[in-house]
Amino acid sequence: MDDIVLSTHGLTRRYGGQKALDQVSLTVRRGEIYGLVGRNGAGKTTLMRLITGQSVPTEGRVELFGATGRDLRRARARMGAMVEVPAFSPFLGARENLEYYRLQRGIPGRETVEEALELVGLADAGAKKFKTFSLGMKQRLGLALALMNRPDLLVLDEPVNGLDPEGVVEFRRLLGRLHRERQTTVLISSHILAELANVATCYGFLERGRLLEEITAQTLEERCRVCLRLQVDDAAKASVIFHIKLGTDAFKVLPDNTLELYDHLDCPQAVSQALAEEGVFLQSMERRGSDLEGYFLDLIGGGRDA
Ligand code: ATP
Repeated sequence: MDDIVLSTHGLTRRYGGQKALDQVSLTVRRGEIYGLVGRNGAGKTTLMRLITGQSVPTEGRVELFGATGRDLRRARARMGAMVEVPAFSPFLGARENLEYYRLQRGIPGRETVEEALELVGLADAGAKKFKTFSLGMKQRLGLALALMNRPDLLVLDEPVNGLDPEGVVEFRRLLGRLHRERQTTVLISSHILAELANVATCYGFLERGRLLEEITAQTLEERCRVCLRLQVDDAAKASVIFHIKLGTDAFKVLPDNTLELYDHLDCPQAVSQALAEEGVFLQSMERRGSDLEGYFLDLIGGGRDA
């Protein structure tokens, strides 16, 4: 069990009569980049605030590095977070802003500031004042702050929100680097699933305060893979035809004489013809699969503006 870095158990948070979070139980394992996906108002920030201790649950509990209750405070020293935009002084540069927080938080060693700046690519920001920073630079400074204590777990709430596509790619690269070089476990949220693609190793989908599904990136990829789904009267014979006549092994045989073909997507007629010529009866054939956003929208029931 000690590969579990963070878990929540029936976590619920009410504001007045409204449940911002409803019985959320999630598990983040060591070395994962866990993408928390949910539309605006789904409860992502509420969940992260409970994890970081900025808010307390109405019900349920958080377990961090095996600690719960009173021991959580100590365990949280191993966590770095960027949940709300940190208050940086507009008149100070990157280095001075971080140094201020280092002293305030009692983090030992001046070199931690340099290390964090180097990691996020701000070591050369020089004397530039925070007020002149681009949004991307501000985000990176926020990340540097979260990294100063060399956390084992990094919690990031919508860190790419507002970044241009280039900034998003850059941010992904940075996370990849942290993951590789420091084996940092990451919990990162976004309202756009595609923004987390290529970086997240697993996902949790949050909607109206509830965790609808936890899924590995690999399974998600498989589910979103575009294919021709065929129902025939003899799947074994169809497999041989795919192999010999169509020259492909890119297919999967499913129960009930159903096959998924990942090849020949643009020429379904050639597929049906090959089957017909060998006497295989094709009951149905449809194109399946969706992009990531489509998957998410299907999951939450076709909502808009996710
Ligand atoms: P966003 O990306 O828009 O911030 P989110 O997924 O982070 O969305 P939350 O900010 O966690 O969602 O909000 C979840 C729900 O809880 C919303 O309906 C919100 O209005 C409500 N909520 C959050 N914080 C409070 C609060 N302090 N008081 C009252 N309601 C709140």
